[in-house]
Amino acid sequence: MAKELRSLPGVNKVLTDERFSRMAKEYSHDLAVSVIREELERQRESIQAGKSGDFLDVIVDNALERLAAIFTPSLRRVINASGVILHTNLGRAPLSDDALKAMAVAGYSNLEFDLDSGSRGQRHVHVEDLLCRLTGAEAAFVVNNNASGVMLGLSALAKRKEVIVSRGQAVEIGGGFRVPDVMRQSGAKLIEVGTTNRTYSRDYEEAITPSTCALMRVHSSNFKLVGFTSEVALEELAAIAKKHNLMLLDDLGSGSLLNTTAFGLAAEPMVQQSVKAGASLTFFSGDKLLGGPQAGIIVGEKQYIDKLKRHPLARALRIDKTRLTGLAVTLMHYLKDEAVAKIPIWRMIAAPLKDIEKRAGIWAKACGAKVIDGETMVGGGSLPGGSLPTKLVVLPGGSALAKKLRLQTMPVIGRVEKDHLLLDPRTVLPEEDDIVIKALTSLAVK
Ligand SMILES: *Cc1c(COP(=O)(O)O)cnc(C)c1O
Repeated sequence: MAKELRSLPGVNKVLTDERFSRMAKEYSHDLAVSVIREELERQRESIQAGKSGDFLDVIVDNALERLAAIFTPSLRRVINASGVILHTNLGRAPLSDDALKAMAVAGYSNLEFDLDSGSRGQRHVHVEDLLCRLTGAEAAFVVNNNASGVMLGLSALAKRKEVIVSRGQAVEIGGGFRVPDVMRQSGAKLIEVGTTNRTYSRDYEEAITPSTCALMRVHSSNFKLVGFTSEVALEELAAIAKKHNLMLLDDLGSGSLLNTTAFGLAAEPMVQQSVKAGASLTFFSGDKLLGGPQAGIIVGEKQYIDKLKRHPLARALRIDKTRLTGLAVTLMHYLKDEAVAKIPIWRMIAAPLKDIEKRAGIWAKACGAKVIDGETMVGGGSLPGGSLPTKLVVLPGGSALAKKLRLQTMPVIGRVEKDHLLLDPRTVLPEEDDIVIKALTSLAVK
């Protein structure tokens, strides 16, 4: 072992190796030295574990591979053939071409600069008017994501006061976002009323004390209470809030600007309805059914939005210029009535089954697979149980095949069920079909 260890090349020997220095010349000397040290350390450990060390050639190869790996972006594009449209692990909503183009602007911007007066401006003005026009709200504000929007709202308006929530809505929404925890973090005191499955308006009324400041509804996005259940409608909550001079806060989670029932889906609460029903503030995500970049959108009464804008947390939770630009363009798609044609998630939701069937047939042909009926999930904590009919390409080979497709230059992500790999064309845009077909063809050849 000692002899093997001694025969390992030194750092300099690898560094000056003709092939290494030629291939690594675009990298800094320090980086090259550090990857060589890492590789030699691994060689030492392997020899000490009783294995034999590699020759210089192999060490050079490994060091070069280590260098290449550093410069291979870890976060990259994948093809989502999983059949879940808003897949949180896959980055939720893909963006429209127009939004992406707008986000790629070079140079400076008037992010917080009023071009008219030449003085300091505010970043939210770039979307506030659009949001008000679309939702009918008086005012709007945008932060980093919806969880931070709710946190800001409660911190600014409900600190040390009581907020009444139905027990059936005080839930974990996914990714560890627990409504009760977020409320506690904000300093608001959560008062849970009703039972898990049934809550009546008298439950809210009886819980009101002089310390109560708000009633809150949380859309139970990712699960559905079925059977013997009862929830109080937002309109009713608004009436109670008004009678007792309380705020009504509505966390919609996904929130949709389009009527999902028009696409054969279950009804997802619409932002416009929430505003109209009398919510003081309505909270929703930018990257769920809106189909835009990650953002937390808050719309509602100006007196409350103004308080949020002035709160110190607003600065900590602010959204960046790139996403703000993408959000504005996404909102314009709705105002121009072109959301279904331009926003990827709506294109997927609206895609006719016969088009999907045709594409599934072409995919299946590329690899000799079968096509079966299936369902696409909307996902992303919206529309619990909400699904659309689809056609799935079924491949035998389950998780081993799934891995092969994941490790392609452009990873294709499917869904493994039992011993089969399922691929859903509905969550893949037709422009991406060539990539999938190429991947499937290469599998068939191997
Ligand atoms: C998804 C969701 C959130 C969190 O939204 P993010 O944008 O992921 O922060 C909060 N509340 C509800 C009801 C949700 O569905």
